[in-house]
Amino acid sequence: MTFRTRLLLAEAPLALALAVIGLVAVLTVGQLGRAGEEVLANNYRSVLAAQRMKEALERIDSGVLFVLAGERAKGEAQIALHRPRFEDELKVQESNITEQGEREATERLRARWTAYLEALQRFSTPGADPREVEYQALLEPRFLDTKDAADAVLALNQDAMVRRSTQLHATSERVNALLVAGVLLALLLGSWAAVNLTNRALRPVGVLRQAVRRVGTGDLAARAVVKGPAELEQLSADFNAMAARLQAYRESSLGELLQAQHAAQGAIDSLPDPVLVFGLGGQLLKMNRAAEATLGFSLDEPGEPLSRAAPHVREVLERVRTHVLSGKGAFLPRGYEEAVRLEGPEGPTFLLPRATPVYAEAALMGAAVVLQDVTRLRRFDELKNDLVATVAHEFRTPLTSLRMAVHLCAEQAVGPITEKQADLLFAAREDCERLQGIVDDLLDLSRIQSGSLELEKREVTPGALVDAALAAHAMAAEQRGVRLSTQLEPLAGRLEADPARVDLVLGNLLSNAIRHSPPGASVEVVVSQQGPAVRFEVRDRGEGISPEHQKRVFERFFRVPGTSREGAGLGLAIAREIVVAHHGDIGVESAPGQGSRFWFTLPLVASAAPA
Ligand code: ADP
Repeated sequence: MTFRTRLLLAEAPLALALAVIGLVAVLTVGQLGRAGEEVLANNYRSVLAAQRMKEALERIDSGVLFVLAGERAKGEAQIALHRPRFEDELKVQESNITEQGEREATERLRARWTAYLEALQRFSTPGADPREVEYQALLEPRFLDTKDAADAVLALNQDAMVRRSTQLHATSERVNALLVAGVLLALLLGSWAAVNLTNRALRPVGVLRQAVRRVGTGDLAARAVVKGPAELEQLSADFNAMAARLQAYRESSLGELLQAQHAAQGAIDSLPDPVLVFGLGGQLLKMNRAAEATLGFSLDEPGEPLSRAAPHVREVLERVRTHVLSGKGAFLPRGYEEAVRLEGPEGPTFLLPRATPVYAEAALMGAAVVLQDVTRLRRFDELKNDLVATVAHEFRTPLTSLRMAVHLCAEQAVGPITEKQADLLFAAREDCERLQGIVDDLLDLSRIQSGSLELEKREVTPGALVDAALAAHAMAAEQRGVRLSTQLEPLAGRLEADPARVDLVLGNLLSNAIRHSPPGASVEVVVSQQGPAVRFEVRDRGEGISPEHQKRVFERFFRVPGTSREGAGLGLAIAREIVVAHHGDIGVESAPGQGSRFWFTLPLVASAAPA
């Protein structure tokens, strides 16, 4: 059975109740109508006939009185007119006997009428001469008898009419009460049946709705078992199929997700260096086994994981994490000096932090931090530095003697020399000077890198630093025909630095700029505020540096291929070490043919003090 049929059937009891009530009402009204008609047919006609007969009898009697009064013609005409009327009405009455006793009353009327007619014969016969006395003795009593008989018929029928009307009234009241009770009962039964049937028809809809709700709340195993109308069975089958597909999809995507998660965890676990992954809010999401073993805490323990890390490790992790999450891009260490030292049973371990942003669909989702174990590399570096320092140191004394000897010979203090010999000795002296510079630089560098560089910090003004550096290089600039200028912006904060070391940095950048500038060009030193630091920038209009060499100019012994043989490629490396020791930054912006801008920053101490 279809759902539609079921719903229609549910309406059927009410419709049936209405039909029954309507039928009963029609029948009852019909019955009452017929009862009324019957009263009209049975009694009203007889009443009418009795009254007409009485009227005709009165007229006949007055016709007789006309005859007695001598107006025979008039009297006879009246009698002749009303006699057949009486007859007709009597016949009607005779054929309309409906009440008990009516037959006898009618027969009595007929008999008295016949007796009256006999007596009337004497008065209405032409030529007869009836007397007043005869009328009173014969006709009048018969007239009154006949009238009484007609009255009796009349009364009989009138009584019947009254009785019938009372009966009809009672019947109609009874029918009314029955009808009202019937209507109420039918409505009650019809409504009950309709509600019942509707509920039964809707039961499968309820089952389906419950299943839909459960699937909606995430219970994809819910199914609707519907037995009923074909449409609903089909609907529930379609719904179950949909829920099954959803469940299969969720199981498969969940499985894939879990697999991918295991693979990701496996991948970072297989890395020998500690790896930590932070979420966008800074919370630690993941760490590999190496991280757990090295840092001594894990994600499984309760509480904030980072709080269990050693304070200096935590500080480094938070610093690199903030660097990446604040949108500054990857964090790359500038050197081994940024490595975190961890004490272990086999001596100290050095971990160099490196952090990269984690992106999901081009949006920053977190930061991955790798702590690279650089203990061995750092040891090699130290050995190399020690070696270089030792060699440089060992070079110094013989080099001094050599310079002295060459100088004395060149100045002819030990005897005359030829011009050619003098030229050779001058060249040798220049090379000795260069070698001395390199040895000094190497010793400086190794001192800085071995950590033995003690910064003697004091409050300085950038203006004074710049002035000193410019004064020291004024001669060299003049010789090369290069103009020097400065641009100083006011600063918010004080600068605390080692003036001698910063002078070395500024001097190095200035001498490079002067050396690489064409004659007549200008070199500008600009001091400005950059966040919480002061930025020194040395701008030249020289040949510039190509991008691939820009990255390497701060490496030791690196010299851009093709540049003049002055210098050993150590000046910028030393400058970088000094700036880093001051917790500053150093860099270069340059384009070939357009000059270079070498810059470094030094952090300012809070509290405003004009530069
Ligand atoms: P050097 O003592 O050899 O100049 P530096 O470390 O000071 O060594 O510089 C490294 C290299 O960088 C130089 O050899 C030079 O090629 C390049 N360089 C430094 N400053 C400039 C500059 N202002 N313009 C162009 N090249 C420069």
